[in-house]
Amino acid sequence: MQKIAVFPGSFDPITCGHESIIRRALPVFDKIIVAVGENAEKKSFFPLEIRMKWLKMVFGDEPGVEIIKYSGLTVDFCVKMNANYILRGLRTSADFEFERTIGLMNKALTPEIETVFLLSAPEYAALSSSVVRDILRNGGNVSKFVPAILAAEMNSSTGL
Ligand code: ADP
Repeated sequence: MQKIAVFPGSFDPITCGHESIIRRALPVFDKIIVAVGENAEKKSFFPLEIRMKWLKMVFGDEPGVEIIKYSGLTVDFCVKMNANYILRGLRTSADFEFERTIGLMNKALTPEIETVFLLSAPEYAALSSSVVRDILRNGGNVSKFVPAILAAEMNSSTGL
């Protein structure tokens, strides 16, 4: 059976932290589906199309990675995609507590799907999309925190 993992998130925007988790998880799975959440209730900073475009720019040449948008329950999306794993990254104990609740609920909903966690690389443990958004909002330079191929475009973006 193919090992297919779904890596769900907002990716608003993608950071080096996300990229690192995906690249490190590639040898573990046959395929990683980066599932970009479309959440009607939660307004994103960058539109879905831009978030998807940036992910595709980073992973376009990577045969083991697919970028797909989704809405609804993550476990339902996994079943639809034939994925047996959910991939998540852990930076802090706060992440752990949050992920533990979601992981347990997902397990209760769909026992055949396992959530797999990778610890953040130490250099990205303080990095989040929200920090990148804050820097951009205030006219700062995010080059150190986002994939190099996106730095210029992100630095010149207004978010809309
Ligand atoms: P969500 O809104 O679902 O938290 P995010 O796009 O913020 O979506 O994060 C998606 C996943 O990437 C989560 O598992 C999160 O913990 C992980 N992640 C985000 N930033 C980092 C980082 N710097 N290091 C490791 N994992 C990270």
